[in-house]
Amino acid sequence: MMIEMRAIRKVYSTGRVEVEALKGIDLDIERNDYVAIVGPSGSGKSTLMNLLGCLDTPTSGVYRLSGETVFGLDRNRLAEIRNRHVGFVFQNFNLLPYASALENVELPLLFGGVPTKQRRERAKAMLEKVDLADRMDHRPTELSGGQMQRVAIARALVNEPAIVLADEPTGNLDSASGHGIVGLFRELHDAGQTIVMITHDMALASLASRVVQIRDGQIVQDERAAARELSRPGSSRAARRSTTRDRP
Ligand code: ADP
Ligand code: MG
Repeated sequence: MMIEMRAIRKVYSTGRVEVEALKGIDLDIERNDYVAIVGPSGSGKSTLMNLLGCLDTPTSGVYRLSGETVFGLDRNRLAEIRNRHVGFVFQNFNLLPYASALENVELPLLFGGVPTKQRRERAKAMLEKVDLADRMDHRPTELSGGQMQRVAIARALVNEPAIVLADEPTGNLDSASGHGIVGLFRELHDAGQTIVMITHDMALASLASRVVQIRDGQIVQDERAAARELSRPGSSRAARRSTTRDRP
């Protein structure tokens, strides 16, 4: 199992107010799954993504990523696990504005201490994979939104992470570019990549292999694509394959 979460809670304390952003999440994600986590604004999606990506730790519960228990670790250990296992793609791309596409993609390898020549070769290969061979020397401001996001995806992949985590990856894109990004995720998934995409857009979510719905800090539905395609009236197979968890 790539990801195992049990009874994960996250409570934010800001001054006198406490917000229970996650109220007991149980989630298993297998290698080479392609999961969309979908829910309205404020439902806890980003909180869940931060925990999945070891950017933050839960208030309580158990989390295992690639067999490693992520609990009671200091910031350095967390960063180490993160760098080894996770590639991030964010809504606002998070690219360095004064660096070229190639330099942006090289960055994780620089942190990883990969020698210059190898760094360059791997970053180039990754940019070719996302169809940006002819944009390597462009800075982010010289690229379209869809191209910037593809640079960000190349950067997320260059370390060959066990899992790619994307938080609203199409949020700042027009719908054509957004669909291009989701198509790219589909290709990466077909090539064996494990992907978790977070979105508030059900239409985009439905392009993934599995859709997990979150409301008010709880998982309310968890469904596979095959089940969704079959979930027409009278389809008993769909009912069996879908696990709906209704909580009061
Ligand atoms: P989503 O990504 O689905 O919009 P979030 O995970 O960002 O939801 O937020 C879930 C809840 O937790 C919201 O009520 C939000 O206000 C609260 N929250 C998120 N981050 C923090 C934080 N750093 N401090 C306090 N409250 C937070
Ligand atoms: Mg969010």
